[in-house]
Amino acid sequence: MAKRDYYEVLGVSKNSSEEEIKKAYRKLAIKYHPDKNPGNKEAEEKFKEAAEAYEVLSNADKRARYDRFGHQGMDGFSGGGMNMEDIFSQFSDIFGGGSPFGDFFGGGSGRQQVKRGTNLRIKLKLNLEEVAEGVEKKIKVKRYVACDSCKGTGAKNGTSFKNCATCNGTGQIRRVVNTMLGQMMSATTCPTCNGAGRTVSERCDGACGGKDGLVLQEEVISVKVPAGVEEGMQLSMAGKGNFPPGGGVAGDLLIMIEEEEHPTLKREGKNIHYEQYISFIDAALGTTLEVPTIGGRARINIEPGTQSGKILRLKNKGIKELNGYGIGDQLIHINIWTPKQLTKEERALLEKLKNSENFSPKPEKSEKSFMERMKEYFS
Ligand SMILES: [Zn+2]
Ligand SMILES: [Zn+2]
Repeated sequence: MAKRDYYEVLGVSKNSSEEEIKKAYRKLAIKYHPDKNPGNKEAEEKFKEAAEAYEVLSNADKRARYDRFGHQGMDGFSGGGMNMEDIFSQFSDIFGGGSPFGDFFGGGSGRQQVKRGTNLRIKLKLNLEEVAEGVEKKIKVKRYVACDSCKGTGAKNGTSFKNCATCNGTGQIRRVVNTMLGQMMSATTCPTCNGAGRTVSERCDGACGGKDGLVLQEEVISVKVPAGVEEGMQLSMAGKGNFPPGGGVAGDLLIMIEEEEHPTLKREGKNIHYEQYISFIDAALGTTLEVPTIGGRARINIEPGTQSGKILRLKNKGIKELNGYGIGDQLIHINIWTPKQLTKEERALLEKLKNSENFSPKPEKSEKSFMERMKEYFS
């Protein structure tokens, strides 16, 4: 029998877009889906015909070849040999996850999905140095891994199975439900075998104790933390979570970053802030002093006549940025310390200076304004 033209099958024009083709196919797949048309041979043929047309027209290379040579061009290239398994495996792209039809498609083929274990979550506390430079941490986790003797299946030698009696080995329980598309056959995973279609006939006598093929194991895992991470960020390591019961692939290890507070340095994004108190005498005369930084101590110069609120900047003494480009600064906020108590002598000396010509405030126009200082602070 001569094949129908693929464009005609999908009901689209020769120059229709990828999206139009997808949409047209989605409609037909729903209309002729075997779950919706049980025992209807004609619907099944239409379903296959549409799938084959979509298989070719959704692929730019195949479509170009088909446009040039027609069906002859497709020999040994694609098309005819599609089975139901292939068709259902297309569905994840067509309908995506979370579609209202997700439950219905994929079910009809008896196709089994690989089971995935649960994710493990841990918190990882880092100090400021580790955040600034990045660090490799060894962490202990307890996770479920597949039992060696039964390869995670729970069955003796990993081979002792029988067909599941609840679902007759299909892994699914089917029932008719009402949906927006009318009555449809819904397939849900069999609760007895969890969709595997088989149950254990003789239990494993290895480390899992024949229970579920899992062994709880303590492992030391090395985590590379990049520089620049922040409180609340999550790193994930694929396949380092738990294995699922009865075999499958492991979930992920999710690592939640926590920042330890530093006693004197305060992080803000890529910059570090430090509050430095100096006496007004040092501020007036000038001095040099040492401040803590991430890499150790650094000397800073206080110019004679320094005002309270001045910000000194240590270039590149901040945090490396997460993207690997750039590094922050350390900002030193100068605060003038005012004595809270005075001895008699101190008081007498200060009284003497009180009316001295340079000791009453004379803010200069050239001094940075409050707004300018704030701008600098947040840069
Ligand atoms: Zn076992
Ligand atoms: Zn079952």
